[in-house]
Amino acid sequence: MATHTLATPADLSSTQTRVFKNFIDGEWVESSTGQTFENRNPADTRDLVGIFQKSNRADVNTAVDAAKRAFAKWRLVPAPRRAEIVFRAAEILIERKEDYARDMTREMGKVLAETRGDVQEAIDAAYYNAGEGRRLFGPTVPSEMPNKFAMAVRQPIGVCGMITPWNFPMAISSWKLLPAVVCGNACVVKPAQDTPLSTFNLVRALTDAGLPKGVINIVTGFGAEVGTPLAEHPDVRAVSLTGSSAVGKIIGGIAAQSFKHCSLELGGKNPMIVLDDANLDLAIEGALWGAFGTTGQRCTATSRIILQKRIYAEFVERLVDRAKKLKVGNGLDETVQMGPAINQKQLETDLEYVEIGKNEGAKLVCGGHRLDKGDYQYGWFMEPTVFIDVDRKMRIAQEEIFGPVVSIIPCDGMEDAVEIANGIEYGLSSAIYTKDVNKAFAAIRDLYAGITYVNAPTIGAEVHLPFGGTKATGNGHREGGIGAIEFYTEWKSVYVDYSDKLQKAQIDRED
Ligand code: NAD
Repeated sequence: MATHTLATPADLSSTQTRVFKNFIDGEWVESSTGQTFENRNPADTRDLVGIFQKSNRADVNTAVDAAKRAFAKWRLVPAPRRAEIVFRAAEILIERKEDYARDMTREMGKVLAETRGDVQEAIDAAYYNAGEGRRLFGPTVPSEMPNKFAMAVRQPIGVCGMITPWNFPMAISSWKLLPAVVCGNACVVKPAQDTPLSTFNLVRALTDAGLPKGVINIVTGFGAEVGTPLAEHPDVRAVSLTGSSAVGKIIGGIAAQSFKHCSLELGGKNPMIVLDDANLDLAIEGALWGAFGTTGQRCTATSRIILQKRIYAEFVERLVDRAKKLKVGNGLDETVQMGPAINQKQLETDLEYVEIGKNEGAKLVCGGHRLDKGDYQYGWFMEPTVFIDVDRKMRIAQEEIFGPVVSIIPCDGMEDAVEIANGIEYGLSSAIYTKDVNKAFAAIRDLYAGITYVNAPTIGAEVHLPFGGTKATGNGHREGGIGAIEFYTEWKSVYVDYSDKLQKAQIDRED
């Protein structure tokens, strides 16, 4: 392996191949394993983005100890002061937006317009959570007894462990870390092994904004070696995972053993219903963006399109025509519209589902192949893929693929469409295209999902609304907005008796 320079806070923006240590207690620390792993560009695997520490339980223990020490002081910093640091981080992220977006496109492949959006989401989350530092409202209520005062205050939980996925590498880290630190917690984050750099960039902005040492610690590595010990650590009082439902089950089980707070944001199989009165131009535009944006690698990706029969043929013809024209390639090229799969394994999964769909009897009308000629040979590319005449029970209509493969399902009308939409194990996002306001509101009521869009595709969440889903998509918590503040605080009810006598609640009564 070539010689690499070791990254310190001062040289993180250098263009040399960077070797990243763990970030623990404000210091750059090598893993006790002495091992590292490579982060390569999925659009061009000749491009080595960085070398990261392949950490283990001992590294997690060191990081949690540091977080615990930091928490003792950080919890006493007034929340508005904590929030000011997060606000300053937003301003720093704005200055570095272009650099960080380019880093992200190199490490995970999505096109620059989208990685700029990912950094922007972290900026939005920083402004939102900075504002929350001056609220953190709690109820003040009258006591049932005279000369007694009653209120509830939010308190931080302690050390929080965050485990993130690779598809929104900065945005999702920001959804977890920013509300957690504004609420007064200290954190240990394990970024996805495919995209650790963007978490480093976010934490760099926070550190430069004045975040004290140890309040956020980064330990890089793999799920079983770092994620599991982090979730198991007795001093970690809250665990937040965004990832697959399979890993969610593991983390949820671990957290339950020691009564940790646990937030799980998991998979999706998101439906877009298009009724026959819809604006078809708009619906096709939305379907293309929802299905093939981020190469279909969004938890909210539009992976099922449910079409009323009268518009079926026209919609399919026009969507396929547009999908075939999408430019696939390296996201650093501003003209490219769809990047690669994140890695070889994901590409293999995508191609495997193409075979599954064909074997189940669905009709492949667009794409379905790997792209591996010319410059494509260095990356994990495939064609935008459309299946039609998909039966609602087929595996390609039921299972999360997480690639640029969309299933089109015919339906008989509104009621049938909602039944198909709800007939899966997930419940993250959903969409309906119609000009009929009555049907739109009925869909808002009846689609059993955490998010419903009307006349927009299933993707495009904003940071100040609750984000998450029903059924196998999670365990009932929400990120974004006030949901995150709920997760990262615990209530303490406070009673102040200024009567100078013993008053007994529920007992001291006249009647
Ligand atoms: P993943 O479940 O494979 O990994 C997520 C994280 O968990 C990674 O950091 C990984 O290293 C870690 N991990 C893996 N195995 C672990 C284990 N045994 N113990 C502890 N940690 C472990 O998911 P991914 O491939 O990174 O991301 C794609 C998945 O994430 C999709 O299912 C997608 O729908 C979901 N996702 C959900 C949301 C949401 O908010 N609902 C957002 C984005 C992605």
